[in-house]
Amino acid sequence: MNCTSCKNGVLRPSFIDGLFRGHTCTNCEGNWILIEDFVSWKEQNPEHQIPEPTEWSEDKLDDTASALLCPVTGTIMRKFKVSAKTPHRVDYSTAVGGIWLDKGEWELLKSEGIAGSLNNLVTQQWQTKIREESASNTFAEIYQSKFGTDNYAKIKEIREWLNAQPQKADLRAYLLAENPYSAIE
Ligand SMILES: [Zn+2]
Repeated sequence: MNCTSCKNGVLRPSFIDGLFRGHTCTNCEGNWILIEDFVSWKEQNPEHQIPEPTEWSEDKLDDTASALLCPVTGTIMRKFKVSAKTPHRVDYSTAVGGIWLDKGEWELLKSEGIAGSLNNLVTQQWQTKIREESASNTFAEIYQSKFGTDNYAKIKEIREWLNAQPQKADLRAYLLAENPYSAIE
């Protein structure tokens, strides 16, 4: 199997982290992993903890921005975000259920604590969760820059406290009233 990423290497059978079966490119060191291989390894080793990343850093990461072709079928693979915290995306071939990880991406997944969920990354539920997280992160950033960090932390705390009170409707009315001591309704 030829590498569709660097187009110079050959994908040779390997064991990713010495754990489960995959293929590694002889040139760019990217990894090709079939979801079924990963899942069957997980099923057979439910207790196994994936090791911590070794000497990992962002700049060691290759991330192909362009569309990649599936090394098996030659069709265009889909890109999937892996978490709301990182812009990096993995490539997935829906045709054969295979994931392409550029060099360093497996370490990235480990450092984000999601390597054990590799098979879930390419599901609808995971992608929806990322979109929701990204949206709420964006709102948090907007509030923070609007109110200032200290005020935002304070108002957030008040809000949480308020929402936990059984009399929250009355408390909110009191808080928002122009003059809560005025006799005029
Ligand atoms: Zn390659």
